Amino acid sequence: MVIVMKHGATDEQIQHVVDRLHEFKLREHISRGDERTLIGAIGDERVLNTIPLEAMPGVEKVMAVLAPYKLASREFQPEDTVIKIDGVEIGGKKVVIMAGPCAVENEDQITTIAESVKDSGALILRGGAFKPRTGPYSFQGLEIEGLELLAKAKEKTGLLIVTEVMSVDRIDLVAEYADILQIGARNMQNFMLLKAVGQIRKPVLLKRGMSATIEEFLLAAEYILSQGNHNVMLCERGIRTFETYTRNTLDINAVPVLKQLSHLPVIVDPSHGTGRRELVAPVSKAAIAAGADGLIIEVHNNPEVSVSDGAQSLLPEQFSQLMTELKKIAEAVGRSI
Ligand code: PEP
Ligand code: MN
Repeated sequence: MVIVMKHGATDEQIQHVVDRLHEFKLREHISRGDERTLIGAIGDERVLNTIPLEAMPGVEKVMAVLAPYKLASREFQPEDTVIKIDGVEIGGKKVVIMAGPCAVENEDQITTIAESVKDSGALILRGGAFKPRTGPYSFQGLEIEGLELLAKAKEKTGLLIVTEVMSVDRIDLVAEYADILQIGARNMQNFMLLKAVGQIRKPVLLKRGMSATIEEFLLAAEYILSQGNHNVMLCERGIRTFETYTRNTLDINAVPVLKQLSHLPVIVDPSHGTGRRELVAPVSKAAIAAGADGLIIEVHNNPEVSVSDGAQSLLPEQFSQLMTELKKIAEAVGRSI
């Protein structure tokens, strides 16, 4: 249930509604838009049928949200969510580019790549310190050392950091270093992890599970939102289909569909979405044309020796060339980079 407050409703009126929800053991999720404030009631909403909320001062109307995901839905919040991190806005007019290696390998590698992607216009550095590898004998990540190297690269370049957290017991550690916590495709339905990142206030980049429907994806985001963390971005990274030519099939449809169904920013990962370097540029362009709010792209200065995902990583000069081309696509759809 969503309680829509009147334009100009006072803080006291909002608090009064919240106090009533608490009396009925419901929690609130407040969304303050430019026009009006919306209050989502979370919990067993059936009790609301017994309270005449509409009669309360400052309340305009009470709406039922039909979608199974409530807080993530456009019905609940018509305006786009814009996530602000140290002057960078995700979900606004600018398309935000995140770039960097699949995994942090050593200091020289991460700083070289960070400096080059920054020069090309990226605002956020990606790089895994905890890697969710399909096989247990593959490189698992540098862990704390990797986080420290990301911090050094941030200090040198001023780029924000997005890096993956794989388990509940590492959230505090990863959150000390990360500006954005990445939840990987393999963990999209790790509900304990989703709830736990919902309890902190760091922005979360939630990747779509490789066989998740759009509804399951939005319900995973709902787990995070329902705990009070409103800063969630949805990342389409390709799904598993019968096609084997590419590593995954990037679901380009998901971009406009998610933008219609939800107010959350949508990020596209053309690297895992294709698995092939030569497809990263065309698919990145398609993503921006389809309405993506950002891209997360793998870049490596020496992909041949990369410990993971070398075949889908762009060389720094290819990334730089792509950024020039993407600016034109962004302009054509009324955005900028
Ligand atoms: C990654 O970003 O390196 C990664 C492991 O992605 P995904 O979870 O989408 O496979
Ligand atoms: Mn990767």
